[in-house]
Amino acid sequence: MRNIIVTGGTRGIGEAISREFIKNGDRVFAVYEKDDKTAQKFAKETGAIVIKADVSDKNAVEKVFYEVKKYGKADVLINNAGISQIKVFSDISEEDWDRMFAVNVKSAFLMTKSALPDMLHNKKGKIINISSIWGQTGGSCEVHYSASKAAIIGFTKALAKELGLSNIQVNCIAPGVIKTDMNAHLSAEEMGELTEQIPLNRIGTPQDVARTAYFLASRDADYITGQVFGVNGGMLI
Ligand code: NAD
Repeated sequence: MRNIIVTGGTRGIGEAISREFIKNGDRVFAVYEKDDKTAQKFAKETGAIVIKADVSDKNAVEKVFYEVKKYGKADVLINNAGISQIKVFSDISEEDWDRMFAVNVKSAFLMTKSALPDMLHNKKGKIINISSIWGQTGGSCEVHYSASKAAIIGFTKALAKELGLSNIQVNCIAPGVIKTDMNAHLSAEEMGELTEQIPLNRIGTPQDVARTAYFLASRDADYITGQVFGVNGGMLI
């Protein structure tokens, strides 16, 4: 049974990723930040091991891996936890900027650092980072979010080069518009306008992203590393 760590794994895209791996017989450690009630319900329903931790905090991340070690070694790490914020550039404060980079980028650095010793020992491992289409194209009124997601693409490519000889594949998924709480602020009209820009003519589902993550973590993806997978219905071609 593989050990899969999914940050932000009890809600939205992360929840769908956790469910996909559990469905296929893996053990999932779903890391969440705040909502104990949702996390406990999710654990009871699915059998996931839920761990409360702010993944931008080094001590909290160390505690996550202390829990994982009770069950064995980390096989797959999915850096999914993230925050977004809509603000015109001139309104973005230094605190906004720092929090965005702490949650969206530093978390991947900390989680990967902690997961790597097991993967190096096993001489195999898969790391999947969740970026965004806005990290590829830039999103208006989301400069800090877009910059953080572009950083994740650079992180993925550089790490893939460094870890290739260790048989550790590092890839990135850049979702387009996916129906989750992160987009709950968008009106039906705005969703309609976005749908018109998508060749496949629908908003994505968390399962669309989850199935790609599952593939990238499988043996079928052993010869794929350093890539950015646009799960976006063709919104960016
Ligand atoms: P969401 O808000 O539903 O879920 C975000 C998850 O991250 C939550 O489970 C939350 O608990 C967790 N999280 C946030 N801060 C955390 C912290 N400090 N420590 C631990 N966990 C933390 O959003 P989502 O749509 O499911 O987004 C998941 C990922 O996909 C994010 O990285 C997001 O940027 C990315 N993404 C989403 C979309 C979209 O359209 N929904 C598009 C592109 C990329």
